[in-house]
Amino acid sequence: MSVTAGLTVAALTSLSLALACAGVLGRASGTRTGGRAPYRLLAVGTALGTLGLIGTAATVVPGEDPGPGRLAPFAFGLGAGSLVLLLGVLRLHARGGAVRHVLDGLVIASCTLYVGWTLVIEPAYRAHLGPGLSVLTRPRLLLVAGPAVLAVGVSAVLAVLVWRAAGPRASVVVTGAGVALTGASGVGLLAALRHGDGSLVAALGVLYGLSQLTVAGGARRADRVVRPDEAAHGARAAGRRALVTWVPVLCAIAAAALRLTLVHSIDNVGAVIAGLIGVTLCARQASALREAHGYADELAREREALRELAHSDALTGLGNRRRLADALRRAGSPPVLLAIDLDGFKNVNDMRGHDVGDTVLVEVAHRLRANLRPGDLPVRLGGDEFAVLMVAGRAQPEPGCGAGGHAPTGAGLEEAERVAARLLAVLSQPYQVDGVAVFLSASIGLAGGAGATDVTTLLRDADVSLRFAKQRGKNRVERFDAAYEHWLRRRTTLEHELRGALERDELSLAYQPVLSLPDARPVGAEALLRWYHPGLGQVSPAEFIPVAEEAGLVGQLDRWVLHQACHQLSRWLADGHDVWLSVNISSRELHLPEYVPQVLEVLRAHRLPPGRLVLEVTEHAVAVDLDELAQRLGALRAAGVRIALDDFGAGYSSLGQLRRLPVDIIKIDRSLVAEPAGTLVEVVVGLGARLGLEVVAEGVSEAAQRAAVEAAGCRLGQGDVLHPPMLAEHVEALLARDMTAQDTGSAHIPAQNLGQVDSGREMRQA
Ligand code: C2E
Ligand code: MG
Ligand code: MG
Repeated sequence: MSVTAGLTVAALTSLSLALACAGVLGRASGTRTGGRAPYRLLAVGTALGTLGLIGTAATVVPGEDPGPGRLAPFAFGLGAGSLVLLLGVLRLHARGGAVRHVLDGLVIASCTLYVGWTLVIEPAYRAHLGPGLSVLTRPRLLLVAGPAVLAVGVSAVLAVLVWRAAGPRASVVVTGAGVALTGASGVGLLAALRHGDGSLVAALGVLYGLSQLTVAGGARRADRVVRPDEAAHGARAAGRRALVTWVPVLCAIAAAALRLTLVHSIDNVGAVIAGLIGVTLCARQASALREAHGYADELAREREALRELAHSDALTGLGNRRRLADALRRAGSPPVLLAIDLDGFKNVNDMRGHDVGDTVLVEVAHRLRANLRPGDLPVRLGGDEFAVLMVAGRAQPEPGCGAGGHAPTGAGLEEAERVAARLLAVLSQPYQVDGVAVFLSASIGLAGGAGATDVTTLLRDADVSLRFAKQRGKNRVERFDAAYEHWLRRRTTLEHELRGALERDELSLAYQPVLSLPDARPVGAEALLRWYHPGLGQVSPAEFIPVAEEAGLVGQLDRWVLHQACHQLSRWLADGHDVWLSVNISSRELHLPEYVPQVLEVLRAHRLPPGRLVLEVTEHAVAVDLDELAQRLGALRAAGVRIALDDFGAGYSSLGQLRRLPVDIIKIDRSLVAEPAGTLVEVVVGLGARLGLEVVAEGVSEAAQRAAVEAAGCRLGQGDVLHPPMLAEHVEALLARDMTAQDTGSAHIPAQNLGQVDSGREMRQA
């Protein structure tokens, strides 16, 4: 067969197979390979080679040997086509690592070329043509050698790609082999054209077309298979990388050594290839170095992110205890620490659920951030505990610091107190959650400044101040004082001793009569708890009740008081006295659902008419959760028990609360009673009259106060000037004296059937 005929067969076969390729590649969806671009590149690569072959076929004159000008279209089409095919395969299979594959492939290709040239081609040419050979002087040779070198390079890159491919590898292998075969058959075709063998040209042309079809088939496979996890594969591939490049380099060095031993010289082409090896190796190392830097940066970023995570609070995004400790250690000048605790937050969690609680905590964090000085560090220590670190003259704000970016000018204690007061105000603003307002306040303990010696002391001092703030009625700022240490020790002792006080029989009740005014007849009494400790002496309930509340002991105490008081009341009633008795109850008790049935059970056990018992609720209790409280008090009231609002006017209560709460009696706080003019007492008395409530003036301790209270129209009074708290027998004597003073026939009420009630036994059973 003539070359022209062979070439025509080759061109036509190649054209029809290229069209088939276009059909196959055109159907690829690209959904698993990041788009259709790789398929388009492969189609273009195929088309370039085929067009080159058609170009060469069109220029060949029948019967004439195709000269260099006529080989050129296919040589260029093949070269350009191979490069575009390589690009397509890399886009298809080597996303991310293409540069690395190409550089490694170039190292292998240049080494292979060097070995091939030094050991085979150059000695063969030298034997035929003598020394001084230069391929550059022979264009026809160049048209074959150029695409051949290119084909070696492309094949080497593909070999690297296949070597490192993550399974399933079939698609990479088929596509890679197809492209390599395209290069090899194309170069063979060029050589066959040059040497003028028609049937070989036809056969290689068919092979060329088939290899292009193989590329298309392999690429279509990639469209169907699931891509492996490239990250997991990355580690395995890294291990193979070194081997892939250093083996060929060692071979090239061995070839150079062999040539030097045999010929004692290095030829020009060999030197050029050796230079190429050097350049590609350098480029590869530079790329590896850049990659290593990239990894190092990524690791550093990850480490920083982990550190950040370990030092932050997941819910609020503020720093945590660890960050605070770090910042405290690094603080140059004496720092100031604010320890912040939300008052009554537990109730929010218990009554509105933890989601609402979380939302409130996030909002608290937001308010803290927004209201601090630049450079101050807010942290969440856990639960509803927060802290703010204020450092004077910090140069660089801590991560997660308050608003702004400039260094603070100073964190004196006065400045810190101003900030704390501001925080107290903003944290007490209502929290809107799902359209419902949540009311909270905060207590703040402040410590530090020049007195702060070390981290542990500072933390403890701030905590002590915070506890002191809680103790002194919450919703306030307390600055650390060394005396608090003493207070804390005493508090710990009290808590410890209080636990066994009931069993050791150290508790008793005192009764303070409530008199009708102005005739000063005893009409009722208030039971007041007394604790006499052999070591500590008499401890005031104002001191130990808050301790008992915090330690969770108050429920036990209040139940005991209720039993004792009811027992006493039942005796007075049995003796025929017309009297009522009031008992103080703790806010914590009122939150328990079983509280109401418990009270009713005690009344039943002591056979008491409920109307004789008054339960005193303090304003603090009222401030926490009005709805629940109203419900509990309503249930007690429905059973006939009377409710008194204690310490009215001393704290939080508002007139609105008074209207919503089921209350029978208002007890005016002694701070109001102590007002010289008695105007406030008059206002409350007027208010009581309007609402149909009884009003008791508490803590009437001077004759002038009594006169003012009477002048204000208050009909009930209680206080030291009337009668101080006393033993039950003394109240009994008072009641007896009053009974005799009255007309016994009309004032006497029928005695109660007391029965055998033993409060001690009842208590033990409870
Ligand atoms: P409170 O319920 O307001 O009781 C009145 C307090 O005022 C009593 O103090 C009483 O001794 C005192 N007081 C009465 N008259 C005068 C006066 O003329 N001048 C002055 N300065 N004070 C007067 P006490 O007994 O120390 O009780 C303090 C607080 O402890 C009570 O205030 C009450 O809130 C609480 N408490 C007492 N007993 C109990 C109890 O059994 N359970 C509970 N949960 N709390 C109790
Ligand atoms: Mg009271
Ligand atoms: Mg009171």
